[in-house]
Amino acid sequence: MQGNRLPLISADHPTLRKAAAKVADPAQVRDLAEDLLVTMKAEGGVGLAAPQVGRSVRLFVTGTGEQRVFINPEIIRASKELIWWEEGCLSLPRLNGEVERPKEVTVRATGLDGKRFEVTADQLYGRVLQHEIDHLDGILFPDRMADVSKVRTLTEEEWDSRFEKKKLHDEEM
Ligand SMILES: [Zn+2]
Repeated sequence: MQGNRLPLISADHPTLRKAAAKVADPAQVRDLAEDLLVTMKAEGGVGLAAPQVGRSVRLFVTGTGEQRVFINPEIIRASKELIWWEEGCLSLPRLNGEVERPKEVTVRATGLDGKRFEVTADQLYGRVLQHEIDHLDGILFPDRMADVSKVRTLTEEEWDSRFEKKKLHDEEM
């Protein structure tokens, strides 16, 4: 794959806290989307949003369920049923917390080909979609926690295994 690994911006960077701008033309974010896919894989993540690399545009990529590029995504349906899931974030190293969100969502977005598509997902994929869309609105997972004091700090080993950095590294060799 083409694309470059980009540095993640730090947790206190203001870009992580503001609403990102709509993408006018999918062709303009082709390179950025490829860079996000490369960066997500290198970091061992299951999703990565453009603001996490300092680009305030409505674009994210996923690596679970399927590897896919979402431009200008919106949640058009969410299940009434809520579930708890443990979330972490590449932008908040070693932090981890339980967040309650809809079990299943349907997201409508535009692909790099300019065509609109819809994805309905639950489990991890459904969770990733919601987490990444939050990034486009400046929301980080602790904001969604019922009790933010319950944020846990993982050991480095736990964090690395969570994001499968070592595993990915081995696969590359
Ligand atoms: Zn995140």
